[in-house]
Amino acid sequence: MPSYDAIIIGAGQSGPALARRLVAAGRRVAIIERKLFGGTCVNTGCTPTKTLAASAYVAHMVRRAADYGVRIEGPVTVDMKAVKARKDAVVAVFRDGVEQSLKTLQGCTVYEGHGRFVAAKAVAVNGSELAADQIFINVGARATIPPIPGLDQVPYLTNSSMMDIDFVPPHLLILGGSYIGLEFAQTYRRFGSAVSVIEFGPRLIAREDDDVSQAVAGFLKEEGIDVRVDSKMIGVEKQGISIMAKVESTGRLSQITGSHLLVATGRRPNTDDLGLDKAGVAMNARGYIEVDDQLRTNISGIWAMGDCNGRGAFTHTSWNDFEIVSANLLDNDQRRVSDRINAYALYTDPPLGRAGMTEAEVRKSGKPALSSTLAMKDVMRADERGETKGFMKVLVDRDNKQILGASFLGLEGDEVIHCALDIMYAKAPYTVVQRAMHIHPTVSEFIPTMMDRLKPLQ
Ligand SMILES: Cc1cc2nc3c(=O)[nH]c(=O)nc-3n(C[C@H](O)[C@H](O)[C@H](O)COP(=O)(O)OP(=O)(O)OC[C@H]3O[C@@H](n4cnc5c(N)ncnc54)[C@H](O)[C@@H]3O)c2cc1C
Repeated sequence: MPSYDAIIIGAGQSGPALARRLVAAGRRVAIIERKLFGGTCVNTGCTPTKTLAASAYVAHMVRRAADYGVRIEGPVTVDMKAVKARKDAVVAVFRDGVEQSLKTLQGCTVYEGHGRFVAAKAVAVNGSELAADQIFINVGARATIPPIPGLDQVPYLTNSSMMDIDFVPPHLLILGGSYIGLEFAQTYRRFGSAVSVIEFGPRLIAREDDDVSQAVAGFLKEEGIDVRVDSKMIGVEKQGISIMAKVESTGRLSQITGSHLLVATGRRPNTDDLGLDKAGVAMNARGYIEVDDQLRTNISGIWAMGDCNGRGAFTHTSWNDFEIVSANLLDNDQRRVSDRINAYALYTDPPLGRAGMTEAEVRKSGKPALSSTLAMKDVMRADERGETKGFMKVLVDRDNKQILGASFLGLEGDEVIHCALDIMYAKAPYTVVQRAMHIHPTVSEFIPTMMDRLKPLQ
């Protein structure tokens, strides 16, 4: 049985980085990848969706050219084969980079196959068994497919199969009005598809504050996206070359027919075929591996990093998991999951940058708070750019003056949010940003202005 100091299962966001750190520390490492190096983010998640969204943004802005006094003769057409080729080229660079860096790493052996525990210190892959005292699980997650009658009889798409599309779907039905569904909705609408979003809940992106949900729904509708909330898909069937969904909305039944159906109803961890029972590793009821604040499982010598531990669902949380594990193991630096502040972005245009608590969470916490909201139409940079949709909102603890949370929905919201996030990590009062001199003309220059207008949260 080949023996290593460490085995890493999955080459997603944390696994490859940890392999490099362990090898640099003199450990002999085996890393197992069953499909595409770089995992979800690189191949079917962040990178391809943002690359596609960049093409969609160009199409959108070209259609708006006249708003800027620029004349473009003739209709705007999107060459989806070229769009996909551009996306594939960007993805290939990232994926090949991960793959080559691992395959050329001295001290690291790469196994291409499905890894499965056979015991607490042994993993089978391609018919061999590998042994190690330390095993790191980085197996990620995949799209959840809900048990809707007829769904298994129609050729539905997921975020993965969407990556193979090299045409504009005439009418894309999207089941699920949350982060992944909305990014695809806007991108494909801008490519020229008719798009219908079918959301079970009463509003889109239900984890966000109501004002954020409404603003996002507003600009998606303005672009011609058919947004249906309070709508439950109760059945689906193929009708010729079309797909017909049966929808129940507040007691009424209706049908909606499209050419393609994307299922975007959430993610589930890739832990169901991992032999975790053989190793005795505990999972919760939803299949997420249970970990402590340092990402150790209940079995000594086994860690779980990234989406599969249910402690985050982002590339940056998976990367941060790598930092936590390597700091504890190699640097005698006791970093913890609980040190991090919730932060992420929704990459619609305009994007939503989020840090810390929502307004609803602040209210629920009962903390005495101040809040301030600034419309993007009052931000000079947004006016100059002709991109004034959205608003920025910040919530502050009235007593210690620290920022509790921020939602920046607007031009560069995904970048500007770091003005709030970094001051939150510093545990400094908001007055530090309020008194900072920011550069003109930027969106960030209005963050101090917003702080000037803080009022008690009503
Ligand atoms: C459409 C979409 C858009 C997204 N956009 C963003 C975004 O903009 N920003 C952001 O931060 N996050 C985004 N995410 C989430 C992000 O992609 C994930 O959170 C991130 O990739 C998780 O990384 P990970 O390291 O946990 O695992 P993954 O990247 O999923 O990698 C896991 C790897 O393990 C391999 N594997 C699984 N099981 C086994 C096994 N038994 N044996 C061997 N190998 C195995 C898989 O093949 C895969 O390569 C997006 C996700 C989707 C689906």
